[in-house]
Amino acid sequence: GKSRNPIKRVNEEIYNYASVKQREIDELKRMEAYRREFLADVSHELKTPIFAAQGFIHTLLDGALEDPEVSRKFLGKSAKSLDGLAKLVQNLLSISRMESGDLAMHFEDFDIRQLASDVFDQFEHKAEKKNIQLVMAENSPKEVYVFADRQRISQVLVNLVSNAMKYTETPAKVEIGFEIDDEVAVYVKDSGMGIPPEDIDRIFERFYRVEKSRAKDLGGTGLGLAIVRHILQAHGHSVHVESQVGKGSTFKFRLRKGENMVLERL
Ligand code: ADP
Repeated sequence: GKSRNPIKRVNEEIYNYASVKQREIDELKRMEAYRREFLADVSHELKTPIFAAQGFIHTLLDGALEDPEVSRKFLGKSAKSLDGLAKLVQNLLSISRMESGDLAMHFEDFDIRQLASDVFDQFEHKAEKKNIQLVMAENSPKEVYVFADRQRISQVLVNLVSNAMKYTETPAKVEIGFEIDDEVAVYVKDSGMGIPPEDIDRIFERFYRVEKSRAKDLGGTGLGLAIVRHILQAHGHSVHVESQVGKGSTFKFRLRKGENMVLERL
């Protein structure tokens, strides 16, 4: 309680004021540390493709241009580095917009089964080339209506399916399925390399990559799952993963049911 002694009371007030200020300072320090770390991470990630492209182009200018075959090869490699750079910058913009909470959401009712099959179509060519089967779970209903941001959920599915196809030996299978109760649960299941238990809590952090996939250089940016998590957070939901090394992984998230779904049930 408050002291009757005026000097003690002033002391208490000063003390309280100081501890509020201290908390504010701690918070600012935390944000500053985060900002600095983010900048360091970003610079590091940008360096790799820029230095690579720079190297190829200078080699071309230093004489390799005389040889059409070498030129083609080096230009191809430069283009690939710059493609990766463009993707990275795009992802960084999404992340920074999401982290500043500056994310306009457009909620609507839509059929997520249709969306999932559109996403599969997008990957069809690549899947065929890599001998990966893309399947819709057998027991899934013809239509699965959810109330969500269609474009952003499309991004979630694209990121999850692209990971499922990337972190696997082939032949492989990627399945999308739905579980419907008071909400709609969506899962993307793969038969891939799986994620070691010690990494599983960290894969949603930006730039975090499991050592093995980093070593293999499968061309990721380490931002895909961070974006997935942000998008689902903006929907008021989280994303869960179950995985077994050598067996595969299942990523699962929940969404609000769409109106059409309710009507269908009545
Ligand atoms: P990246 O651009 O590296 O794919 P992500 O944020 O999408 O970045 O994924 C982070 C890391 O999580 C990946 O580098 C990979 O090690 C691991 N990972 C993600 N999805 C899968 C999956 N389906 N199977 C195995 N490992 C995965």
